[in-house]
Parts: sequence; structure tokens; C-alpha cells
Amino acid sequence: MGKILGIIGGGQLGMMIAEAAKKMPEHISKIIVVDPTKNCPAAQVGAEQIVADYKDKDAIEDLANKSDIITYEIESGDSNVLKSVEKYAEINPSPETLRIIQDKFLQKSFLKENNIPVPEFVEIDNIEDIKKSLDEFGYPALLKARRDAYDGRGNYKIDSKDEVQKAFDYFKGQSLLLEKFVPFKMEVSVIASRNTKGQIKTYPLVENIHEENILRETIAPARVSSKVTEKAEKIASQTMDVLKGAGVFGIEMFVTQDDEIVINEIAPRVHNSGHHTLESSETSQFEQHLRAILGLELGSTKLLHHTIMYNILGNKSFQGKYKPLKINDENLFLKMYGKEISKPMRKLGHFNLVSSNNETIKELLEKLDGIKPRAAVQSV
Ligand code: ATP
Ligand code: MG
Repeated sequence: MGKILGIIGGGQLGMMIAEAAKKMPEHISKIIVVDPTKNCPAAQVGAEQIVADYKDKDAIEDLANKSDIITYEIESGDSNVLKSVEKYAEINPSPETLRIIQDKFLQKSFLKENNIPVPEFVEIDNIEDIKKSLDEFGYPALLKARRDAYDGRGNYKIDSKDEVQKAFDYFKGQSLLLEKFVPFKMEVSVIASRNTKGQIKTYPLVENIHEENILRETIAPARVSSKVTEKAEKIASQTMDVLKGAGVFGIEMFVTQDDEIVINEIAPRVHNSGHHTLESSETSQFEQHLRAILGLELGSTKLLHHTIMYNILGNKSFQGKYKPLKINDENLFLKMYGKEISKPMRKLGHFNLVSSNNETIKELLEKLDGIKPRAAVQSV
């Protein structure tokens, strides 16, 4: 008999987890999500929905009572509430792993203690701490919110002494850390998985291109030397080994000017930079996540085809209903998330452009340039 799967969050990640779960009926018989938006993306593909905030204690208790196993698509769940319902349902990754990861200061301290490279950072309690640390780090540096950041909204880059007060005020009393700026060559990531029995597998290193702090393109594989790839994948495995949690994790990294790897941050969940796996790999990150939390043997992570993932983002100049996109190219796999309303830079969908006749990344990028105009979202 299959298990009942509970997911905290029913956005596009929850939706794609639910779709993978539906292909495993012998393991999962039903999916329930908690999400505040009625008819959220996951509900549109057949998940039952509890309409409530991700941190709503009653809703999480309800979910735990109804589910055999719980996971999440967002990292901002309340780890204390989750800890309190562990007696009703198995939770993966564990609330303890979530507690460490969801606080950037705890996360970086944990990695540093385990000899995993991270940028230099320091805890900030007051404005004097910032000034003192900037004297040591130099400029620029990044002031970051410890919790609940996404799409770069929890970061403030400080370029000079004059900006310190403004940066401090921007966060309105949130807990903070200061981080040394890394003049990276490239942003990369590894989608890593660990199952409940301790088996670890990593997907090949990919390259991420951001626009205004939001992921725009993922290039699989990353255009770096095999030495850099090996280094990054090894660091990802080590991270999974010390973290202990079960599931898929997105590990964001920087490649430095001298080809060293430092971890920027870890997401304790499936990750936007892993969407290429839907078509590029034998096992998608969504199936892998389910295999990991169910304690099944992990699937192959081999990259079968060069692939570029391109995010469909809301047009910056309008908010509202939008026209359906028409992109029907060969070897292009479009996935829209069923969001009714477009907002500036909101993630509305993505597509994977997959190499068919061994096209190189360069050729795929040229092809992508020709497609981009049709991937622009327009109001109805
Ligand atoms: P997301 O949810 O998009 O991953 P976030 O709000 O958690 O974002 P970070 O991942 O910490 O924010 O940072 C967003 C981006 O800011 C990074 O992808 C990187 O481009 C830049 N950045 C962050 N930290 C540093 C750093 N120490 N040095 C240089 N650039 C940085
Ligand atoms: Mg990030």
C-alpha cells in the first residue's frame, strides 16, 4: 500500500513533486499540500489542498494527522512546529536539518565547523558590528537577513562607508549577518541527494545565470574544467554527509577567480537549477527527492543530454492576467505552472532546451537567443 505524502507548499516545486509522486502509485497513494493560495499549482495536478499559511500550526498538525510522510518545497516552515508533529508523521528532511539550514548564520557556521568552504562571514547584532567588520573585510560586502530571504531580497550590498546606515535600516530589526563579497567567476550549483539509509548521489555541476538576483538560465553541464567539476561535486557530497537530512538539496556555489569553490547557500529542497533533470536525466530531481525520503535506492544522476533551462519570468512592467505562450520547438519542453496572475519577475514557468544531435552548449545558447522573444510574457 502506498503512503500518504504531505507537502508544505504547493507552488511549482510542490506541483512537480506531486507529478513525480503520481508516477509512483505503489509507493504514494495520495498527496496533500498546505498552501495559502486557493487552487495552488500542486492542487491543479491533483493534490488535495489545506488552504493555510505554511507556518499555521493547526494546518501543519492537520497535515501530520492525515499524512504518513511529510516534506516541503519551501525552507521557511516553522521547525519547532514540525518537531512537535514528528510523532504523527515522518518528516524529511528532518526539522533539525531545516532549523540549521533556514538560518544563514547557523548554516554557514555549521559548514565552517565541518571544514566546508564558505565566504568569510560574521554575526551582526548592531550597527557598530557592521562598521567594525567592514574595517576588517573591506568593501564591497553583503549584509544579509539570517532568515526568510529569497530571490536576493534579503541581501544588501554595501559599497562604501556612507551606505552602512541605509543598509542597516533596510532590514528593520531583522537578525543579520555580514559576508565578504566574493568576486566570483561563475555561479554554479549541485543538486545532491541523500536517502534515509545514507546513500548519497549528486547530479553533475551546472552553471547558473542570474538577472536581478533571480535565476534566469541554468546550463547543464557547467562550462568549467573537470577539475572544478570534481571539486564542487566532492564538496556537495561532503555536505550531504555531514548534514544527514534525507531528500534532495540544492547547493549553490561560487567558482572563485582562482578556481576554488565556496558554498553560497544550501536549499533543503528541490531547486530551480535542477529543473533541467526533468528532461536531461534518467531520474528527475523530483523523483529523486521522493526516492530519498522513502528510503528507496537513488536513481541514476547521469546527464544524458546537454540542456539549458530557461525561466519564464513575469514582465517587469505589468501585473495581471497574461497571454499563453506559443513555443513549440523541437526538443523544447515547456512547463507552465498554472499561475493565473503575472507579477514583475515572478516565476511563471520554465522550458528545457535539450540537445538532440549532440549540439554543443554554444549551439544551444544560439538557439535559445532565437527563442527568447517568444518567451516574453505579455498582458491579455
Ligand atoms: P535565492 O533565493 O535566489 O537563492 P537569496 O535571497 O537566498 O536568493 P543569496 O543566494 O544569498 O540570496 O544571494 C543571491 C545572489 O547574490 C547570489 O546568487 C549571488 O549572485 C549574490 N551573492 C550572494 N552572496 C554573495 C557574496 N558573498 N559575494 C558575491 N555575491 C554574492
Ligand atoms: Mg541563493
